[in-house]
Amino acid sequence: MNEERTRKWEPFSALAERVMTGIDQTQLTDNPGPACLLCRDTGMEITTDGARRCQCEIDRVLKERIAANLAVIPPKYSNAVLSTLQPRSDLHKDQPRIIASLKENPDRSYFFCGKPDAGKSHLFWSLYHHEASQGRVVFTAKLFKLIEAIKAQMFSDGPDPLPDIEVDQLSIYLEDVSKARPTEFVAERFFDFLDDAYNRQHRIVVTSQLAPEDLIKYFERAEGIDGRAIVRRMVNDETSVFRLF
Ligand SMILES: [Zn+2]
Repeated sequence: MNEERTRKWEPFSALAERVMTGIDQTQLTDNPGPACLLCRDTGMEITTDGARRCQCEIDRVLKERIAANLAVIPPKYSNAVLSTLQPRSDLHKDQPRIIASLKENPDRSYFFCGKPDAGKSHLFWSLYHHEASQGRVVFTAKLFKLIEAIKAQMFSDGPDPLPDIEVDQLSIYLEDVSKARPTEFVAERFFDFLDDAYNRQHRIVVTSQLAPEDLIKYFERAEGIDGRAIVRRMVNDETSVFRLF
């Protein structure tokens, strides 16, 4: 019993705080007491003029968002961390210049196009990691998977696969945009989403095996699609385009 209790003891400062605030009763029972003394674990702190979200609740939500954000990084790219990212000139000669630029401007919109295995995904995921680990609101998808999900939702009334666009700041990470060719129906939905994101000045980071001019032609091979309009929402004055061909 004594041994059991010893293991449950908290660091001295936390224990001292409890004694000072006179709620050390909890030490006498098996109930460890509230972890947060400000809100007694309700998430709401009572103040002189009402109640507000407790800092512990704000911290908890942030921690959960960071964990959820990081969980979607494919294991293959778990080492794609911007601050420690080293150029792989063997994959593409421009990597040193590109990585220096990303480190200098980690919050810009980017369009990475180029041949397979030039390192586009590493650049992409390291930018994602940089933002995601700060707990910002980020959304990532491969375009063909997103299109599948949009299609499925149209016929089944399922949950919306697109993120809430009405937040103050959202970053959209789209991988492999040249591996999907939307139909007219889906393209319209996708275009509206991108258009909204663009108008709200949300950030967009994209990888593509095709350069923007070729991506337009590629999308337009499907009937009724305005490829230029779609690509313009991914590549505009705010976007840095890097070509790794
Ligand atoms: Zn609290």
